[in-house]
Amino acid sequence: MKFYNLKENDEQVSFSGAVKQGLGRNQGLFFPENIPQFDNIEKLLALPMVERSVEVLYPFVSEDLTKAQLLDIVTDAFNFPAQIQPISENRAILELFHGPTLAFKDFGARFMARCLQAFSAKEGNNKKITILTATSGDTGAAVAHAFHGIDNIRVVIMYPKGKISLLQEKMFTTLGGNIETIAVDGDFDDCQALVKQSFDDKALKEAIGLNSANSINISRLLAQICYYFEAVAQLYRQKGAAALDNIVFSVPSGNFGNLTAGLFAKAMGLPIKRFIAATNANDTVPRYLKTGEWSPNETVATMSNAMDVSNPNNWPRVEFMLKSGLVEKDCVSSVSIDEEQTQMTVIGLAKLGYISEPHAAVAYKALQYNATDEEFGVFLGTAHPAKFKEVVESTLGQPIGLPKELADCASETILSVEQSTEFNDLRQYLLAKA
Ligand SMILES: *Cc1c(COP(=O)(O)O)cnc(C)c1O
Repeated sequence: MKFYNLKENDEQVSFSGAVKQGLGRNQGLFFPENIPQFDNIEKLLALPMVERSVEVLYPFVSEDLTKAQLLDIVTDAFNFPAQIQPISENRAILELFHGPTLAFKDFGARFMARCLQAFSAKEGNNKKITILTATSGDTGAAVAHAFHGIDNIRVVIMYPKGKISLLQEKMFTTLGGNIETIAVDGDFDDCQALVKQSFDDKALKEAIGLNSANSINISRLLAQICYYFEAVAQLYRQKGAAALDNIVFSVPSGNFGNLTAGLFAKAMGLPIKRFIAATNANDTVPRYLKTGEWSPNETVATMSNAMDVSNPNNWPRVEFMLKSGLVEKDCVSSVSIDEEQTQMTVIGLAKLGYISEPHAAVAYKALQYNATDEEFGVFLGTAHPAKFKEVVESTLGQPIGLPKELADCASETILSVEQSTEFNDLRQYLLAKA
């Protein structure tokens, strides 16, 4: 299967091309030329996660990977569970934070790293690759851990200085080796803009073999399709076929990669009734769906900081899927949840016996607003509560334990360099160490 540039449709590349390039010409996003369809979904749902994921992903990647290679990659990448936990009779959370960096981004980053490793081995390891990525927290950790120690791949991660929690920062700035980190004196959108500028710089791109591991990378999105199938499979196993009629996913959204993956799953035939895209105060999308006007405001800092994005970079894919009829036009609604509601919801969930964190709370609250009692609402648990220890503890007034992954890095030294938002500074840095 080919992937084509949504902005410049004549640019068509294979899966490996799309993964290695990240972005197409004119900053266009790659999109699969067709969406595989499964006529026997129930048979697919009955498979174990790894085997099912191979079936789901193979049509997308068959030009570059054999089924056996894909099985190896998926087995290694998805070596931790995605788990449905009931919250109440008609609400459940899909816990996606049982990977090495305790956030859902482990699924996509681990899959991407292993795909690149396979392509690089095929090409004889002789081409330089630099992964340049911007993070508002969790991407950095997931990408750093997924690529740490992989030969011939240099990883440079930028993040907004002082705008992520100390523990989050420690999770990706203390590894060293092939992982370099830059604290940028700006916000996440500034970091994202620097990545885009780098991709526009042809000479730089060539010189360092530039690639982005951001959620614009198609490999990350494809990996994320698999846990929507897994969630529905678990509900099907627990409740039978009747459960498949009215499932609504509420997705805590920042760059809208997670939502895009969900829409892919729906377009492939997975029975999902509809989606709610839940945002914090950075509400460009809910305003857009209401008014038809795309008018991003300044990014504001919230406690669900991984969603502090006012210009979500995956939106063109979502828009395309809605407009082209790949999914029903009205299958996405969007709700913005403010800080006070978020905090009250963390408390409300704790009263129901579930310790949560702000991102999942935003998604749960959006379900309360937007889903009916007849609908079965699944909200995505995108991060472990301990990753947002300070805010969860101050909200609940009780200490929460630190899992081993976080405890281990808490005492390590931050190795980041600091930089301005000037593109030239970044450019010089990248070339000097290449
Ligand atoms: C990245 C992230 C999100 C937002 O996901 P997108 O795919 O960018 O919409 C939500 N929650 C957490 C904890 C994250 O790390």
